[in-house]
Amino acid sequence: MTGPVADTCGPVTRAVTAGRAGEWAQRTVNPPLWRASTHLFPDCASLRAARPDDADGHRFFYGRQGGPTHWALETALTELEPGAAGAVLYPSGLAAVTGALLTVLHPGDTLLLTRNVYGPTRAFAADVLAQFGVRVRTFDPLDHAAFSRLCREGAAAIMLESPGSLTFEVTDVPALAAIARAQGAAVLIDNTWATSLGFPALTRGCDIAVTALTKHAGGHSDVLMGACTAGPEWHERLRHMARLLGHVVSPDDAALVLRGLRTLPLRLARQQDSAVRVAGWLSGRSEVAEVRCPLLPGDPGHALWRRDFAGGCGLFAFALRGTSRERDSFVDALRRFGIGYSWGGFESLALPIDPPGAAAPMVRLSVGLEDTDDLLADLDQAFSRLRA
Ligand SMILES: *Cc1c(COP(=O)(O)O)cnc(C)c1O
Repeated sequence: MTGPVADTCGPVTRAVTAGRAGEWAQRTVNPPLWRASTHLFPDCASLRAARPDDADGHRFFYGRQGGPTHWALETALTELEPGAAGAVLYPSGLAAVTGALLTVLHPGDTLLLTRNVYGPTRAFAADVLAQFGVRVRTFDPLDHAAFSRLCREGAAAIMLESPGSLTFEVTDVPALAAIARAQGAAVLIDNTWATSLGFPALTRGCDIAVTALTKHAGGHSDVLMGACTAGPEWHERLRHMARLLGHVVSPDDAALVLRGLRTLPLRLARQQDSAVRVAGWLSGRSEVAEVRCPLLPGDPGHALWRRDFAGGCGLFAFALRGTSRERDSFVDALRRFGIGYSWGGFESLALPIDPPGAAAPMVRLSVGLEDTDDLLADLDQAFSRLRA
């Protein structure tokens, strides 16, 4: 019989057990797929008595409020996020970002956005929030003095991302969160890179953790979803805003993400180990100008990563000595790495990137579950072609 996850259990036990205490999970290992827009009531009195906003939100009411498959996933995500009172699901990671920002901001407010934030987050702030009277200012996450000044000038919320998913600098989240909270700002973080297993954001000073479940939790490149996790006060408001916006996910997709969660710590650990080997190997190549991977000792973000994170993942980048065209030829020559957006799936991907401030053309790798030797051999043959 499965009970709630004990905090003392290890991450793999917690991932295997999370979200399985509900009555619907007593007879099958996985919750059944409840496909339902209409929920039925035995009589008019129970229909009138039903409240969609009951404390935990897990009540039969109407399809948009979810059903047991969604509740199992929300419960699992809550149990895997230390300090969380609940989780809200969104149809994509970006919808989770925009849902969180719309929850914390009002016209006339100022949002401080980290310079390394996910591009579509920046676009939403510039194109939508600005239009609704929110002032958006960007900051360098490594310049604490300038960040303090901006906070003192007034901010309703700040949005962090660490490490940046193109630039890979690690932010001192506890320090920036403390500065922002002292000025009364809500602290949001896009925690997609580390997930709650690698970076327990709510215990590091953040109010709301946003995760693109599309990446690691889904893990199999076949589903789009996002989540926000938060303490009681923000969770209530996040859920309210998601309801107002009409955000729903399909129970089939919720079941896919739930399946992904069961192996999440194993995949993350394997991909991290493999990425450390690949990144270390790349650092020794004469064709490589720079490796940006906080997992590597010697990386500028490594000390902070060791201090604040319980784990990492397979995503990092490196710069090639050469032209953008040579970089593209190198990526084209790879056989084991697919070329495509997204990351965190079981298969390895390579992406040509040109983050702001990069002195040389860069490649971002999402290291998957393949045998590391095969990935190294593939990179090696692509370097040989580059030299030829
Ligand atoms: C992919 C990604 C998102 C958005 O997730 P989608 O599910 O693709 O909308 C948000 N933040 C980061 C850091 C991402 O990499």
